[in-house]
Amino acid sequence: MDHLRLICDFGEMSGLFMGSRAFLDKAVQMVARRMRAAVCSIYIYDEESEQLVLRATIGLEPSSVGRVRLAMGEGIVGAALEGRRPILQRVASEHPSFKSVPGIEEERYEAFLAVPITRGIASIGALAVQREVATPFDEDDALALRAVASQLANALENARLLMDAKGADKSARREGQRRPLRGARGQRARAGERFFGQTAAEGQAAGPAALFDREGVYESFARRTYDRAYGRADFESAVLATERQLEALQAKVEDKLSDVASLIFTAHLLILKDPEFTGRVLAGIERGDGAPRAVLQVASTYLQRFAASESPYVKDKVQDVKDVVVRLVGNIIGQSPAIDSQPGSVVVARELYPSDLLELSALGVAGVVLVTGGASSHLSILARSLVLPLIIVRDERMLTVAEGTTLLLDGGGGVVQVNPGETALRSFRDQRAVLEDLERRVPGQPVTRTLDGTGIRILANVNLLSDVDLATHRGADGIGLYRSEFPFIVRSDFPTEEEQLAVYTQLLARFSGREVTLRTLDMGGDKVLSYFTDDTREANPFLGMRSIRFSLRNPDIFRQQVRAMLRAGVGRAIRIMFPMVSALDEFLHGRRITLDCVEELQREGVACEAPAIGMMVEVPSVLPIIDAFAAEADFLSIGSNDLIQYLIAVDRTNDKVADLYRPYHPAVLRSLSLVAASAAEHGTDLSVCGDMAHQAEYVPFLIGIGVRTLSVEPLYLPRVRALIAGIDLQEAEAEAEEMLGCTTLTDVEEVMGERLWARREEAEPA
Ligand code: PEP
Ligand code: MG
Repeated sequence: MDHLRLICDFGEMSGLFMGSRAFLDKAVQMVARRMRAAVCSIYIYDEESEQLVLRATIGLEPSSVGRVRLAMGEGIVGAALEGRRPILQRVASEHPSFKSVPGIEEERYEAFLAVPITRGIASIGALAVQREVATPFDEDDALALRAVASQLANALENARLLMDAKGADKSARREGQRRPLRGARGQRARAGERFFGQTAAEGQAAGPAALFDREGVYESFARRTYDRAYGRADFESAVLATERQLEALQAKVEDKLSDVASLIFTAHLLILKDPEFTGRVLAGIERGDGAPRAVLQVASTYLQRFAASESPYVKDKVQDVKDVVVRLVGNIIGQSPAIDSQPGSVVVARELYPSDLLELSALGVAGVVLVTGGASSHLSILARSLVLPLIIVRDERMLTVAEGTTLLLDGGGGVVQVNPGETALRSFRDQRAVLEDLERRVPGQPVTRTLDGTGIRILANVNLLSDVDLATHRGADGIGLYRSEFPFIVRSDFPTEEEQLAVYTQLLARFSGREVTLRTLDMGGDKVLSYFTDDTREANPFLGMRSIRFSLRNPDIFRQQVRAMLRAGVGRAIRIMFPMVSALDEFLHGRRITLDCVEELQREGVACEAPAIGMMVEVPSVLPIIDAFAAEADFLSIGSNDLIQYLIAVDRTNDKVADLYRPYHPAVLRSLSLVAASAAEHGTDLSVCGDMAHQAEYVPFLIGIGVRTLSVEPLYLPRVRALIAGIDLQEAEAEAEEMLGCTTLTDVEEVMGERLWARREEAEPA
């Protein structure tokens, strides 16, 4: 029990003291007390010197902190980290790796236990406890200390980064994280410095920094003086060059993102071809302004007009105009446009639009660092679809990194390192090799089974057609969630029925023979369509005109979408799903319209059939009457992302309350179990398609309450398969039951803390 309590205390502590020196001191005190050890020490691995440095101790001479340094493999502690296994030694001096360090007063404490602290394949440090020889440690102690080390890994990784010898002024750095963006101007990022942020799309990347500041380039172009000798011929050839560049870019994107490619640069090309625009520029050149100035002057009148507009659709055009102007002026004066980042580079930008992200991905950039605010979730989802690591660092100094400086992005820890050392780069390359190997091994496995042979279907969440290749390559059993809103979001008007038909047809063709669930439009909340305005700005868009509410309020748009889905589904068994259903009446209404569309199409001679019709379970109001939904719907899919935010009233996109967004809240757990039980009773097909479906800490719970279908973003397919292969059904059921018995967050943490580390070890690839 003592051990259990210890683990739980760490859960609380790491939140409180993350990264600070006080955390390490508290940690050693707590471990020593709970394990009844005379000595407890934490060593942290310093990548630069490739040494383990004693960073906190209780029981050894305090002045040895920072002074005692061991090479990898040196001493029992170094041997534990090098071998990545615990070392339990009755008499320390008898161990072959024992190293006597004079002046630290450890001679009396010969009973020794050291465990490595690792995260993935990264070596973070080691934890050691010592006692007098009469009371040696046993296997249980070793197990408990490993659990602690595993819990501490993340917090210690942060501590290590903050305390890194090369690190600059720590307090400034910590402040940098909290300080509003404006306040940080004037300070520059230093070589070796690490920035901590929020991961929007996981993954790692290393490459030369490329600053993408369209706004900044525009401003500097607008301020400059230009040679008036640039004339009509320069302007005309720049227009042609810009058109060629945009068309080439469009063609590149087309390959990867055929559903949205043609829509991205349409506005840009229209501006270039607009006779009013070119006519005014030419008139300016005739007056003797010089081509660059003439372009900028005409642009500024357009910009003023657009910026003053009430309509967000027109306002959005400001960005398009600026983008075109930057390209055009750049071509006139022979300076390449800002967006042309090199493949493999890490782009640092103040802000991005979804279309920018698509463009950067098409250009083959390795990763993106964003400097402004929270990642709206559709931008993160898009980045995940594009398998483009994206970290948000709220520190303006990120923008001062010199172009070409090597940046290392670690999406797992939300860290960006400027000019990392060779050791860090080597570790990055090693990690990437492990992941690639894992990916190569997992596809081709027909059914995913738990340890005891229970089959679990793993489907893919698809946002863009580009996800489909990855999903098939990684062996998804079908598509559990197609988020149909993405082609709507990236363009500048509603797609027609025919345009939607083209997208859905491609999607179904690429997944032929496998189950595909198409979700109807889930716009609203943070998924805003810039071209749709109904004059009223919503104070609470997440509680507003979202999803199925929008569709039922705009039946023409809804019918067009459903018709396109049904037409694409001719000859295939498709499933149509409604998002955000909050009352049975809504579900029945949506279903009636869908079945009307089937009849209508049949009258038109289209051989479509009634699809399976289901709904997302993501609004808490459906929970008390879930039986009625389970009886009516052909299938249910739990949208845990929204379900959690609505159930515990925590905005999923607000980073101020991110720490309160806890999927393991007892109310969430019991709600999930309620839905699973009801679906089982009615024989209704059930899946989970929110983020919980790919999170290692919750998958056992989901399996334990009876969920047999998970739908995850393709990025996570191999990992989830590997995770499931390590789950024992009976154990998962027992764990779920225990979790469901808890009424406080702390109780659940305690249950999970104990199981979590063991599960991770099992699931970790060899
Ligand atoms: C969810 O809410 O869990 C979900 C899968 O839908 P989305 O993330 O698109 O809102
Ligand atoms: Mg949702």
